[in-house]
Amino acid sequence: MKPFTYERATNPAQAAAAVAKERNAKFIAGGTNLLDLMKIEVEAPEHLVDINGLGLDTIEPTAEGGLRIGALVRNTDLAADSRVRRDYALLARALVAGASGQLRNKATTAGNLLQRARCPYFYDTHQACNKRLPGSGCAALGGFSRSHAIVGVSNSCIAVHPSDMAVAMRALDATVETIQPGGQVRRVPLAGFYKLPGSTPHIENVLAPAELITAVTLPKPLGGVHIYHKVRDRASYAFALVSVAAVVQKDGSGRVALGGVAPMPWRSEAADARMQEGAKAVSSVLLADARTTPQNAMKATLVERTLGAVMNEARTGA
Ligand code: SF4
Repeated sequence: MKPFTYERATNPAQAAAAVAKERNAKFIAGGTNLLDLMKIEVEAPEHLVDINGLGLDTIEPTAEGGLRIGALVRNTDLAADSRVRRDYALLARALVAGASGQLRNKATTAGNLLQRARCPYFYDTHQACNKRLPGSGCAALGGFSRSHAIVGVSNSCIAVHPSDMAVAMRALDATVETIQPGGQVRRVPLAGFYKLPGSTPHIENVLAPAELITAVTLPKPLGGVHIYHKVRDRASYAFALVSVAAVVQKDGSGRVALGGVAPMPWRSEAADARMQEGAKAVSSVLLADARTTPQNAMKATLVERTLGAVMNEARTGA
């Protein structure tokens, strides 16, 4: 690990200003992803600003009837919150499907949104990777790509976004709240938060340098049946090959977001509009621009079948 300096922030604006002030500085909270990346020198910040003392760890009702989740709420606490379990069961289920109990105890809401790709070539500093080293190439193209993305990809990167939580939050129309070094606050819908790789896969979201996530808000509850179905190679502690986050109403209408298939949680309102027509119709819209490799082409079938299973479960309760 490269040497770095360290400080503890005392309030959100000061934390953002501290990261802005130092060269190559980063925020650290749970550290469940960043520390792993620092140990193998994929990430090498020269200064860390510890935000664990900022108090952004509460879940509060909003005036609009939703919930405001502090950026530092741990994944375990969010999944266990009685309001989340009752009104946003989709989110609770997605959280519990992610990582392990120990990791969920440390991992934060904001950190979960910002976790980096799990592409094996991103972690291997001997391999070409445009996300790790822009312009170096992409070893996954033509390499091992079974777990990689099939939509939203580019010639520069085909990595998927690894979060389960973000997929549920996308289905729930969450909004990210931030503060910038000058103290300016802004709200970014999660729908517009992530960036597709294009020719700059190292730029993964719309956050400005030193902009700090302070909270995520959920709109008022949608009702309906909430399902998070994750298909993976083993029953726990594995990333999704495909996941489906769905809210289905009694008449079969609803909304759906996919994980494991794109560089961001993948949702299309045009696909939602076809929910009552069944899984084939919905997946045909969601995967309309699919670009697969021989190894990950099976994901298109997996999406349709997983969607079918979710819709059946919503209809029959089984
Ligand atoms: Fe790097 Fe993306 Fe290619 Fe993986 S898919 S090697 S993260 S550029």
